[in-house]
Amino acid sequence: MTVLNNTVELPDRRIPPELVPETIVETLEPAERDELRARIKRLLKEQDAVLVAHYYTDPDLQSLADETGGTVSDSLDMARFGHESKARTLVVSGVRFMGETAKILNPEKRVLMPDLAAECSLDLGCPADEFSRFCDQRPDRTVVVYANTSAAVKARADWMVTSSSAVEVITYLMQKGEKFTWAPDKYLGQYIQEQTGADMLIWQGACVVHEEFKGIELADLKRQHPEARVLVHPESPASVIEQADAIASTTGIIRAAQEMRAKEYIVATDKGIFHKLKEAVPGAVFIEAPTAGRSATCKSCAHCPWMAMNTLRKLARTLETRGNEIHVDPRILDRARVPIKRLLDFAESRRKTIYGANDA
Ligand code: SF4
Repeated sequence: MTVLNNTVELPDRRIPPELVPETIVETLEPAERDELRARIKRLLKEQDAVLVAHYYTDPDLQSLADETGGTVSDSLDMARFGHESKARTLVVSGVRFMGETAKILNPEKRVLMPDLAAECSLDLGCPADEFSRFCDQRPDRTVVVYANTSAAVKARADWMVTSSSAVEVITYLMQKGEKFTWAPDKYLGQYIQEQTGADMLIWQGACVVHEEFKGIELADLKRQHPEARVLVHPESPASVIEQADAIASTTGIIRAAQEMRAKEYIVATDKGIFHKLKEAVPGAVFIEAPTAGRSATCKSCAHCPWMAMNTLRKLARTLETRGNEIHVDPRILDRARVPIKRLLDFAESRRKTIYGANDA
């Protein structure tokens, strides 16, 4: 379906279902799991490597990152951690754009990933050449892209943002009179537009996981759990976002759950986050927001097929073979660093402002 936005025709950029792999979760016997965990710990140490894992990955990978001096976080903090770490090798357990971002910020470091085929539907739905042509036709617009894009798309952008920073950055730029081309997630773009009133041309991509959350079925589930608080990631459709008690990035969802101190939560994001949510609010019940029902059946069913490609077996093999290294074309690496650094500097300056306010 083509959408008209500011009288510009914006074609559907969601990827076809046949390009979405099955979500396959690795199952291991306890003895193999223990052996793999021990082997990975030894290899990380021997290779001066740290594990940087996303909240959506396997709980075993998340706990390994925590136990070995790595981190479990969202894409902004993964980038920040990799940049500040002294380790010579970063092992990024997540999807490809996260590995590329780590390489862009740390060209002197070796960046490995358990599986280089771990993509993202948002990245795949925004090819750099087409996006670049689209931007070239609208030179009066500031190009703001989501972190979930390739290095080549970032190289064409003025700013990169994450879901936790997008509203703040757009508000800041709007105050300077700027209008925007936004890519690739249409739901996050609509949410930012509603929050800020910004003039935005919105690329029509979507996350295959978050797009499956269903508004009507969520309303039914809320009736069955009237005390539950609803936590929603803004990559979800508007019919889901409008029922949220908190709309936030992954880190923001965990923080919101801690602050609410409810007994029950309905969560509309990848269920990999339940590992950290249960640590953050022990004893609370976390329920998956519905992804199937009257309107459709789910395919990914609240777990990203590409995030699930990160497994203990693949991580061990990657460290043993020193394979699966991320390389970014040197011709785009320096240009791609500009919008990422803008965000990191912006976030750092805001942090200082907040600390300054607290001190006063
Ligand atoms: S959950 Fe969605 S946005 Fe995140 S990596 Fe998977 S496809 Fe991309």
